[in-house]
Amino acid sequence: MAKKKKSAHGSAAFATRAIHAGQDHDRATGAVIPPIFQSSTFVQDGIGGLRGGYEYGRSANPTRTALEKQLAALEGGSHGLAFSSGLAAEDALLRAVVRPGDHIVIGNDVYGGTYRLVNRVFGEWGVAHTVVDLGDLRAVQKAIRPETKLLWIETPSNPLMKVSDIAELTELAHGAGVLAVVDNTFASPALQRPLGLGADVVVHSTTKYLGGHSDVIGGALVLDDDGLAEKVRFLQFAAGAIAAPMEAWLTTRGIKTLDVRMQRHSENAGRLAEFLDGHSAVETVYYPGLSSHPGHAIAASQMSRFGGMLSIAVVGGERVARRFAEKTRLFQLAESLGGIESLVNYPSAMTHASVAGTELAVPENVVRLSVGLEDGDELIADVDQALARAVKQR
Ligand SMILES: *Cc1c(COP(=O)(O)O)cnc(C)c1O
Repeated sequence: MAKKKKSAHGSAAFATRAIHAGQDHDRATGAVIPPIFQSSTFVQDGIGGLRGGYEYGRSANPTRTALEKQLAALEGGSHGLAFSSGLAAEDALLRAVVRPGDHIVIGNDVYGGTYRLVNRVFGEWGVAHTVVDLGDLRAVQKAIRPETKLLWIETPSNPLMKVSDIAELTELAHGAGVLAVVDNTFASPALQRPLGLGADVVVHSTTKYLGGHSDVIGGALVLDDDGLAEKVRFLQFAAGAIAAPMEAWLTTRGIKTLDVRMQRHSENAGRLAEFLDGHSAVETVYYPGLSSHPGHAIAASQMSRFGGMLSIAVVGGERVARRFAEKTRLFQLAESLGGIESLVNYPSAMTHASVAGTELAVPENVVRLSVGLEDGDELIADVDQALARAVKQR
């Protein structure tokens, strides 16, 4: 359904693209790193005489362009668009695709804010939705109606690390004339590239692994279809939720190390998952790299590694889970994920508090870990001591 255009550095290997796509040195000075164009407006050589197409920073800024080219090259898409947050990107996409009376099918374990946007913002504007288990293709098929415009896939999902089959789901969606959207925030394009598996649009919270250093909020869309790209670019301009120059620059900087970071994130998380699997204080480990994970085979086929996110369900319920989340020392208690530093989050009262009481409510004995780039042994020791103290004070 989509037209493929060649993107800059599109044929280079991933690690090379991450460093070079859109990142040409500054022609005027030779600066190896493209500068931050911290300017809201651009001089015109006579009315309408734009230099390089830039007129006002909401329509375009060279630093944002550098990021958008890099994003497109990373996901293997024709068009990259950078927004002020992941949710701003999602909002622009949804407004480009759905109208009152339309319908969205969405997975039953997605980022809480995504569900809030669909349920409480678009719901108010007359867009209906159905929540489904994306692992159950028949249920997905049944949920699709004539008014369905969009299938929202998040894999691995937040926070229960459910894995769904991107190729199968997009094929099913396309059979019904439905747009297949994949939130690729957890895997990042270093590990998983949904467009290559058939998806129409990739969504990112660049706040997470792409930025990678917990110092920027941002979002992105990458897609191939020229018509849809024009619609979302119009909304980016007309509604204005753009990535600002400093944020765009920080994100390009983060992306350059994405490939090596994802290797270490995956290695540390894999080791921690194995340590926790079989730990007496842990009921379930949710990590797609474990062969016991129900989505392991699919993850192994569509991801090159298993990433840095894992969740656990602890023995002893809410009290032990809360104590554990408060007893870690290296893992800092905070929302968000994907940064160099390890973070612990208690979803049901933190990131996913907004979906309490809905079909997406997260069990109260679940704790989510964003495994950072610190020493792997020290991370394991930290989790071990926190579990011991959490259990003791039961
Ligand atoms: C954080 C997150 C979002 C929202 O992104 P923001 O940058 O916080 O607006 C969307 N999807 C997933 C999977 C996320 O983790």
